[in-house]
Amino acid sequence: MLNNTQIRHCLDVMAEMFPDAEGELVHSNPFELVIAVLLSAQCTDKLVNKVTADLFKKYKTPEDYLAVPLEEVENDIRSIGLYRSKAKNIQKLCRTLIDDYNGEVPQTKEELVKLAGVGRKTANVVASVAFNEPAIAVDTHVERVSKRLGICRWKDSVTEVENTLMRKVPRDEWSVTHHRMIFFGRYHCKARNPNCPECPLLDICREGKKRMRKTG
Ligand code: SF4
Repeated sequence: MLNNTQIRHCLDVMAEMFPDAEGELVHSNPFELVIAVLLSAQCTDKLVNKVTADLFKKYKTPEDYLAVPLEEVENDIRSIGLYRSKAKNIQKLCRTLIDDYNGEVPQTKEELVKLAGVGRKTANVVASVAFNEPAIAVDTHVERVSKRLGICRWKDSVTEVENTLMRKVPRDEWSVTHHRMIFFGRYHCKARNPNCPECPLLDICREGKKRMRKTG
């Protein structure tokens, strides 16, 4: 497992590699971001952006999503995986926003996580990106990178990964670290084919060393 100095080094290297890392889901307000993150579960940001380009023109408010039958929302997002349950959650979430929050998206993680279809990850992304609240959302990339490098244990749950990162990463770097780790995982330390031979972290990475021993 990496010590604090090594973790600091990882964060600095990722910052150098991806200085402009930021969320890639296109949105122009917190409500659109919630919908986009909800749609992005098990689906690429690219596909979500393609669908929301039209979706956000047609539906601008929670009321808009409730003014049409469920089947119509389903149809408008049908190229996205799990579109049936996502459409249902969108309408449920819109109902809650109208009934409990005056049609606005609540700002705290505790409130966000109670909305339909919004898990811890979505709540963290929205709190961090839309409201600048420090948060580390653990998605598949953040989890994989943290475990490969040995910042977290292989057996850690997503919540344990999140807690470890919140302990080890300075609070004012949580949000930016989340984005940099996603970029590092998406474009460099990829799930199937990580670029270990050219990785600046190879000398401290347990997974990288193992892979290089195998191929070497
Ligand atoms: S050495 Fe390989 S496994 Fe380790 S962080 Fe770099 S790319 Fe990922």
